[in-house]
Amino acid sequence: MLTLVTETVLAPPARKLAYRAFMDEHVYPNEAAISREDDAAFELVDELRAKAKHAGLWAPHLPPQAGGTGEGFLDYAQLNEEIGRSLYAQLIFGCQAPDAGNGEILWLFGTEEQQERFLRPLVAGDVRSFFSMTEPDVSGSDPTSLRTRAVRDGDEWVIDGHKWFSSGADGAAFGIVMTVTDPDAPPHRRATQILVPADTPGVEIVRPISTMGHTGRGWTTHCEVRYTGVRVPLANTLGEPGAGFRIAQKRLGPGRIHHVMRWLGQMQRAFELMCEYALHRHAFGSPLADKQTVQNWIADSAAEIQACRLMTMDAARKIDDGDEARVEISLIKFHAARVLQDVIDRAIQVHGARGLTDETPLAAMALQARGARIYDGPDEVHRMVVARRILDSFAAGEPWRFS
Ligand SMILES: Cc1cc2nc3c(=O)[nH]c(=O)nc-3n(C[C@H](O)[C@H](O)[C@H](O)COP(=O)(O)OP(=O)(O)OC[C@H]3O[C@@H](n4cnc5c(N)ncnc54)[C@H](O)[C@@H]3O)c2cc1C
Repeated sequence: MLTLVTETVLAPPARKLAYRAFMDEHVYPNEAAISREDDAAFELVDELRAKAKHAGLWAPHLPPQAGGTGEGFLDYAQLNEEIGRSLYAQLIFGCQAPDAGNGEILWLFGTEEQQERFLRPLVAGDVRSFFSMTEPDVSGSDPTSLRTRAVRDGDEWVIDGHKWFSSGADGAAFGIVMTVTDPDAPPHRRATQILVPADTPGVEIVRPISTMGHTGRGWTTHCEVRYTGVRVPLANTLGEPGAGFRIAQKRLGPGRIHHVMRWLGQMQRAFELMCEYALHRHAFGSPLADKQTVQNWIADSAAEIQACRLMTMDAARKIDDGDEARVEISLIKFHAARVLQDVIDRAIQVHGARGLTDETPLAAMALQARGARIYDGPDEVHRMVVARRILDSFAAGEPWRFS
C-alpha cells in the first residue's frame, strides 16, 4: 500500500508520545539547572539518564542488537523532533552528537573486537567519544586537504596532527580520528578513520575553545586537540585503510538528518513561544497577535516549519529505503538551518527585551542555531552539492525528478 509522506509525518507514533511525556515531566523542569554546567548539573543529568533507560527510551538511534531501542531511521527522525526541543535532551536519552554518529559507524563498520571495546560502553552511556576531523589550518569544507598523517610502523599507526572543533573531547574516552594514510592515492581514498583512546600518550586536549562566549564543560565543549607521535594498533582501523571518506559519508549523511530533526523541535518550540506571547502581550491597545507584521511572522514560520518537516521526512524515508538521498539531505541541511534561525529570531523579536534574557530558552536557542549553518558542512557547500548533482542529471539528458 502506498504511504503518503504526509500520513507518515502527521501521525506521531506512540513512542513519540512517550518521549513527549518524559520531556514534560523530567527535562523541561530541569533545563535551567542543567544549563549551569556545575557538578550538581552533571549529577542531575546522570539521574535523568538512568530514568530514561528505565523508561525504555535509551539510545533510540541504534537497533536493539546494538544495545539501543531504535526502530528504523524514519522512526528515529520523528523521535528527534521531540528530543530536539530541549538542547540537553539528546544527552539524557543517550543519543547525543557526536556519540550517536560514532556509535552508528562502529555498528556498521567496526570489527567484533572494536564493538566490544568501544561501542558497548558507548551505547551503555558509560563513556563519551569525539569525532576529530576538522583542522584549524585547512578548509574543513574540503576535507581532501586534511594534513593529519598516520604512518604505519610494524603493527601500529603513528599519528601526528592538529585538529579543532572536536566536540565533546573534554572528558571523552576515545576519539575517531580522520587522518591521511596514503597521500598518493586519489583524493577520496587518502584518508582513514582510526580509533584513538584519549589516554594514549601523545593525545593532548589543548583547550576547549570559547565559542560565542561559551566554553562549556565535558559534552558541551569544542576542543582543540594535538596528536604527537600517537601510537595505536592497526587493529584500531575503522573499516579498510583509505575508506575514511566513504565512512564519513555514511556518518554525516544520516547525522545531518538527525541535526535537522532536532532543529525542527527547536523551531516548533520557538514558534509556540512566539504565538503564546503574541496573544498575551498588549501594545497600542491590542494584543501583538492583532498586528499584521506579527501575523505574517506566524504564518511564514508555520509554512516554513511544515515544509522543513515534509522535506526531512521525505529524506528519512528515502534513507530507510536504502537510498543515499544526497540531494535531499543537502537541501534540507541548508534550508532548515536558515529557517531555524529565522523562526527563533522572529520569536525573540516578538518577545522584545525579554527575548534576549535567559528567562525564556530563546537566547540560548539562538546562539546554538548560528552554528547550524556551518557544522556538518556550511550552507554554501550544500548548495553546491545540490546544484552540481541536479545539473549533472540534466547534462546526462535526465531532467531532475522531485518524486
Ligand atoms: C558547533 C560546531 C561543532 C563542530 N563539531 C565538529 C566535530 O565534532 N568534529 C569535527 O571534525 N568538526 C566539527 N566542526 C567543524 C565543522 O565541521 C567545520 O567548521 C565545517 O566543516 C567548515 O569548515 P571550516 O570551519 O574549516 O570552514 P572553511 O572550510 O574554511 O569555510 C569557511 C567558509 O567558506 C565558505 N565556503 C567554503 N566552501 C565554499 C564553496 N564551495 N562555495 C562557497 N563558499 C564556500 C563558507 O561560507 C564557509 O563557512 C564543528 C563546527 C561547529 C561550528
